[in-house]
Formats: sequence, C-alpha cells, structure tokens
Amino acid sequence: MCGIFGITDNKDAARLAYVGLFTLQHRGQESAGIVTDDHGALLPYTGMGLVNEVFDNGVLGELEGRNAVGHIRYSTTGSSHIKNAQPLVLNSCLGNVAVAHNGNITNADAIKAKLQKDGAIFQSSSDSEVILHLAARHKGRSLEDTLARNLPKLSGAYAFLFMTPGKVIGARDPYGYRPLVLGRLGRSYILASETCAIEVAGGSVVREIEPGEMAVIAGGKIKFKRFAPVKRFTRCIFEQVYFARPDSVAVGRSVQTARYEIGARLAGELKDVKADLVSGVPDSGTVYALGYAKESGIPYQNVFMRNHYTGRSFIQPDQKLREFTAHLKLAPIRDVIKGKTIILIDDSLVRGTTSRQIVKNLKRAGAGKIVMAIASPAIVSPCYFGIDTPTKGELIANQLSLERIRRFIGADALHYLSLESLVEACGDRRDRNFCVSCFTGKYMEKP
Ligand code: AMP
Repeated sequence: MCGIFGITDNKDAARLAYVGLFTLQHRGQESAGIVTDDHGALLPYTGMGLVNEVFDNGVLGELEGRNAVGHIRYSTTGSSHIKNAQPLVLNSCLGNVAVAHNGNITNADAIKAKLQKDGAIFQSSSDSEVILHLAARHKGRSLEDTLARNLPKLSGAYAFLFMTPGKVIGARDPYGYRPLVLGRLGRSYILASETCAIEVAGGSVVREIEPGEMAVIAGGKIKFKRFAPVKRFTRCIFEQVYFARPDSVAVGRSVQTARYEIGARLAGELKDVKADLVSGVPDSGTVYALGYAKESGIPYQNVFMRNHYTGRSFIQPDQKLREFTAHLKLAPIRDVIKGKTIILIDDSLVRGTTSRQIVKNLKRAGAGKIVMAIASPAIVSPCYFGIDTPTKGELIANQLSLERIRRFIGADALHYLSLESLVEACGDRRDRNFCVSCFTGKYMEKP
C-alpha cells in the first residue's frame, strides 16, 4: 500500500501536499516525498520515515511551485531504501518526469529484464520505474499520448500520478484495484488516494477516476482521456476492511458506514453467542465492535488502553521485542475485563500473531472467555496487487483448520465473517465489484 496526493495551480502546493500526505499516513510509514514544479524545474525532496519526520517548515519553504505531487510508501515491491522513495524523477527524452505510484505491477520484472537487455539503466528496484522507461521508448505527441500507448502494457494494479513541467496526470488501472479520487479546491485540482485527504486539505470531492481513465491537468484545465476499456471494476476490498480511513468514501460508500454494517452482520452471524461485552482491537476494530454492539444489544467497552506514542522504532523483527511492543501499544484494562466473556473484533487475521498476542495479554490480565470475531473471511491466498500479505505458506488460514487456528491464537471461539456479508456491507454492485482474491484464491487475471 501507498498513498499519493497531487495538487495543481496553488501557491501553497507543497504545504497542501504535506497536509494530504499527512492525512494519508495510515497508508504507509516507510518513506515520504514531494516534487514541486518551480517554473518548469522539478524539485524533488524525499526521505525515510513519517511525513512530519521528513518535512519541516524550511524544506517546505524551499519546495516552490504551483503544482505538487507527493507519495508515502509502504514497501511491497522493492526493498526498504531511500532510492525507492517516491516520487521518482527521471530525465529522459520525455524531459523531466516525476512519478508516484500506488499498487503493484505484476509484469514489471519481465518488462524490466527486456528493457535492461536493450540497455536501460534503472535507478531504483521498485516496479514503478518501468512505466517511465517504457514511455521513453515509445513516445507519442504528448505525455498523455505516450502514457495512453504504454499503460496498457502493464498488468496488475496501479494508481499513478505523473508530473512534467506545467502538467499533472493521474491514471488508474483498467480494473480500478487501487483508488484515485479527484477533488477541487478553488481553482486547484487535487488527485488523491482517498477522499479524506481532499477534504482535510480543504477541498471537495468531485468523483473517482474511472478504471482505465486518465485525468490530465494543465493550464488550469482538466481533460479526461480513456486509455483502456474498463475490464471489470474490481476495487480491492481490503481498502474497506483495513486500509482506508473511516472518514473516506469509497465506491460511493462511507468506509465508516460499511464497517459499522459489517459489525452488525457479524452480530447476525453470531446471534447465539452470549457475552458480557464486545470490544474491538484499536483502531480498526473499534467501528466493527460498535456496529456489533448496536445489533446485538451487548454493551460496547474499551478493553485496551491504546498508547499512540509507540512510534515505529519499536517495530523490530525480533519476536520478543514484538511481543513487548504489543503490550506497550495495547494495555488491557483489568477492571473492565476481569472474569468477563468478551467478543473481541479485529479486521483480519493474516499470520495470526496479533490475535495470539492480544488474547494472551487479555487472559493474563484476568479476562474470562474470549470469542475472537474477524471482520473479514479467512485470507487464504496472497495479494499480487499491492497489499502486503505474505506467501501462502505464511497465511495461517491456508495452513490450518479453523479449530487449529482457534487453538493457535488461544481464543475460546473463533468466527470469520462470511464473504457474502462482507461484499454486501461494502456496497457491491453489478457494475462495481470488489477484488476478493485474497479470500477466494481466484484472480481476475493470472498474476
Ligand atoms: P497477523 O498478526 O499477521 O494475523 O495480522 C493481522 C493484523 O495485522 C490485524 O490486526 C490487522 O489490523 C493488521 N493487518 C492486516 N493486514 C495488514 C497489512 N497488509 N499490513 C499491516 N497490517 C495489517
């Protein structure tokens, strides 16, 4: 996952890009970058870490120009290194072009190998650079024309922002796996991963960029260009489940509303389960638990004190430290949980490590029984389209039966939401479906 944000024709372009990226921070914490267009010179600034660690007033002051494109990265393809921080800026026969990408291009390695054989030199190990190399070899009359010829050669998922002097272009893959929304702020246009970023920057949402569509903004005007037919609108459902911020709207449905309804549907699926209280694993589990409480009549309670100041420095690969971090981040509230039967909701179970740790901490702190309710179906297959899920072998639901997963996480009962409830609650429509490959193992195209 990554977040992208672009703004045009604004004297505060860099600062508004900062606001947009700051709002999208939940989509990636590894690196952040902004490129501005200062009278035709593209000024890039990228760094490792959170948006407010990378940028300060001084840096933002130096990023002059009325157009800006920004990116925050959550590494999927390519290693965690500053050279993979985006936006990437390349100087070629296309002139100076910057690119910011959210998604995963599944045929990037094959394209890259071919281009390298022909002499191309790549400056990063991320998959996002291939489109610029392709474009440099197959030029059209304008950048949009060039992109329209070359984007259809890519497979997989992408929401792109491109910038050249005087122009910003947004493009979304023909399935619409990854989100891209258009907004307006006075005379400025905004392109962003989520509606929340447009609104926090002070703008209003216009519409989603359609799958296979490009938005070209130049000279204060916007043009739309279709570069591929919509294959079948299959937006990633994991955005609704986990990634998107609840105050965003996706495919016409508020994420908060969808999650509340998912919680209610979970309650419907578990109507025979008696419990003293229902709670969610903060932050993503909370809305689900509220929906569950409303539907079931079981009182909602916070069972954890969440410490918001843990930061990322504690996220270490070492198992002992990871356990310690879990405790540091979520401390059980003993008085609330003592001897109680608790329905505990989390958005998903991937490897099972989070649930296992949390159940252990709650029990150690005196909880009675724990019914673990997962607000999505079992993840049985990896994502090839930009969500950082591990290989099949590491996905617990691919390896163990429901009963063995329950035992592994130490809960007294375990329930996954049905796929049917999930897609209905997310607002699945005939023309606008969701990609649910991670739950079914069936992919729209062979990855
Ligand atoms: P796990 O501990 O491996 O079972 O992962 C599940 C937990 O990680 C849940 O609490 C989710 O909120 C969170 N989660 C799920 N998918 C992702 C992802 N792609 N990146 C980071 N966290 C995730």
